[in-house]
Order: sequence, then structure tokens, then C-alpha cells
Amino acid sequence: MSEDKREKLKEFYFRIKECMECELGKTRTNFVFGSGNPGAEIVFIGEAPGRNEDLQGKPFVGQAGKILDELLLTISLNRSDVFIANVLKCRPEENRDPKLEEINICKKYLLEQIKIIDPKIICTMGKYSTQLVLNTDAPITKLRGKVFKVEDRIVLPINHPAAALYTPSRFGILKEDFKKIKMILDNFGLEAAASLLSDSNSSISAEKEHAVSTEPDLQKNKNEQLGLF
Ligand code: URA
Repeated sequence: MSEDKREKLKEFYFRIKECMECELGKTRTNFVFGSGNPGAEIVFIGEAPGRNEDLQGKPFVGQAGKILDELLLTISLNRSDVFIANVLKCRPEENRDPKLEEINICKKYLLEQIKIIDPKIICTMGKYSTQLVLNTDAPITKLRGKVFKVEDRIVLPINHPAAALYTPSRFGILKEDFKKIKMILDNFGLEAAASLLSDSNSSISAEKEHAVSTEPDLQKNKNEQLGLF
């Protein structure tokens, strides 16, 4: 089953990795698809690749990634247990915020990844992934730490790990949110998670359009070493 997902993800990666649908395609070093376990029960979603990620072609390999690794360790997980991706696959110059048009172009890739991996839990890290997955404009401050359900998946928004770089006290808040992730993972079952579901769910539209646009040609390069999955 997991092998099947791995193959599908690889095939998808080769199909989209030369994407030039937005301006970021011109300036990227690498298309940062995401990495981790294709059979993961939980997918973590950040914002966009930064400099290190752009250079290495993998998500969360810089300072924020160190914090994410530490947080995973607090609940006895490591990267091979989870899948990590971003809203944008290419680095915005000078690490500026993603533009709405970029998100709208790129989101089909993330949504397809989620469809293939089919995780039970999605942990959105920061404003952009949270607003995208929950289809809301509500600020992250109102959503973090609450538990939502979208299309039979549990969605748990947390602060972006980079927040702890600038405000160390936020590491404690992230740790608390990771305890919640562990609890949901350990007791998974929508019934168990239901007790955690946020009252504000009703104000969030769970129905989203997962439209995938015309598929670019499959570009398989058999010699290329992925090292991502
Ligand atoms: N921040 C993100 O949101 N994603 C990364 O991959 C790295 C830093």
C-alpha cells in the first residue's frame, strides 16, 4: 500500500517538477516537492521553501527545520514517520510572503499530494497552509491549537516553527500543540478526535474544490535519484 503511494508520488513529482506556471519557476534552484514517508498518517505543511530548501531541494532543512525536528522528537517521531510539504514548491525571492496568485496556482500540487498520501491528520504550520487547508481568512491566532475536520481528516493548525526562532517562548506553545498531535495519533479514530473538535468548525467551510488542472507531460528521468521518499 505504502509502496503504491511511493510510486504514485514519484510519478507525480516527475510530472510536475519542471513547473513554470508562475514566475517563481524562473528563479528557483530546485523545485521543493516535499519529503518523508508516503504512507505517513500525518502530513505537515509549511509555507514555502527558503534559501536552504531551494538549494537542497528538500523542505525544512534550515533553522526552522531544526525546530521542527526537535518538536517531532518530543513526541518520539522523526522525519521518516511523517511527510513534510509546503504550500509553495518554489522559493519566493528574499523569502517574501507567498502571493495569492502563486498559492492559487500551486495548491493543486499540494492537494494531489494529500490525496495520494491520504493521511489521517494534517498539521498546518502557520497562516498560509492553515488558511488554504481550512479554506478560511480567519487569522492563525484564532485557529492554532484547535482541531478541525476536513473531508474525514483531522486538521490541526499550529504556529510556524520559525515563530520560535524569534520568540523562544513560542516553543512551549508548539510543544503543547505537538502533545495534542501525539494524543490524536495514539487514539486515532474520528470518535476519539471528536472530543477535541473545535466548536468553531461550523464557521469553517470544509468543502473545497480540489480541481487539478491539465496535466503536464510525464517527464520521467530514470537516472535521477530522488532521495525524497
Ligand atoms: N519554512 C517553510 O515554511 N518551509 C520550509 O520548507 C522551510 C521554512
